[in-house]
Amino acid sequence: MSKLPIRARVATTLGEAAGRMSRLAGRGDGSVIGGVVGLRVAPDLLRQLAAGRQIVLVTGTNGKTTTTRLVAAALSALGQEVASNAFGANMESGLVSALSGAPQAPYAVLEVDERYLPSMIKATSPRVVVLLNLSRDQMDRAAEIWLVARRWREALEGAPDCLVVANADDPLVAWAAGSARRAIWVAAGQRWHEDSWCCPECGSHLRRDELGWRCGECGLSRPSARWVLDSDTVIDSTGGVRELGLTLPGRANRSNAVMALAVASIFGADVDQALPRLRSVTSVAGRYTTVQRRGRTLRLLLAKNPAGWLEAFDVLEPDGRPVLLAVNAQVPDGKDTSWLWDVDYRVLRGRPVLVTGERRLDLAVRLEADEVPFEQVSNVDEAVDRVPPGGLDVIANYTAFQQIRTTLGRTV
Ligand SMILES: [Zn+2]
Repeated sequence: MSKLPIRARVATTLGEAAGRMSRLAGRGDGSVIGGVVGLRVAPDLLRQLAAGRQIVLVTGTNGKTTTTRLVAAALSALGQEVASNAFGANMESGLVSALSGAPQAPYAVLEVDERYLPSMIKATSPRVVVLLNLSRDQMDRAAEIWLVARRWREALEGAPDCLVVANADDPLVAWAAGSARRAIWVAAGQRWHEDSWCCPECGSHLRRDELGWRCGECGLSRPSARWVLDSDTVIDSTGGVRELGLTLPGRANRSNAVMALAVASIFGADVDQALPRLRSVTSVAGRYTTVQRRGRTLRLLLAKNPAGWLEAFDVLEPDGRPVLLAVNAQVPDGKDTSWLWDVDYRVLRGRPVLVTGERRLDLAVRLEADEVPFEQVSNVDEAVDRVPPGGLDVIANYTAFQQIRTTLGRTV
């Protein structure tokens, strides 16, 4: 901190004060407003705060917050402080708050909004950039994610010192990371193929087989991976095989964990050091949390876009327990709910399904089309009362998730 220029020091102090006041006023965790105030005083603050630290930037459409948490947990095995924007404030102000809140931390693991990656690479000169996946978000159309991939590619080309850890199974990610001077490829899997039928290089149809994907026209193909997720095991870059045994559920989290292990190894934390830290992560910003409510055990899953819903279905308990689906369409969710039609709901057949949220009628129409029986409820508590004592899985999009957390108490 002492090495910061005076203006940056003042900016940081003012930002911290604003963040504290925001917390005291009950307006969230203060991580955005603190950064906003700091940046107003010193527009170059992020660059100054990042200087001299080893920075990891994590981005992708899904799994950013969880992977950021897992990488930070893995790096904590090195025994030094790790700065991180643990609550998903992933634009410039959130990054400023994370770094100014941990001025002595030699490491920082920062979640970055996928659209901001190029400018954040410029500002923070990261040692490592982690690229998870790229699919359409609730507000996007396919053309926009192709544009994002192109910007990633250009940004990485202009950052020769940066090491990229990227998912080889996602063709758009692999193409974007292909411009990096150095890349470590991870076979992290890809369940959602709908946004990558075409070759990002030439536009031809991609072919897929057990070896991965390749373009028959230009020859672009899946890079060979040094780290592999295979069911519940990880195969590391030396060929070592270990069971992951995570507490967090689902295939998507196993994939995030393998990415985190690959990052940790760059910094000298091997799998045996890092894996116990990953297993100890039980929830991430309220996600996967288990809550008791009137004799029912609720498990909270956040899913913001088609690929995210597919991953959430993958996490549902196989015992046929009831599931509550909650959909809103406020600004952070995207006003347009047509994305609901991109999700295949037939996997829900055979379990009681309840629907709630401001746009539950849109969801109801969609479920009817897939011949999935359901009941409408006005809120989470009505759902709790409708199901027998036991488990209830809850899948909600962004603002619906926050509303349910508020209902259940901010302890979750
Ligand atoms: Zn091609």
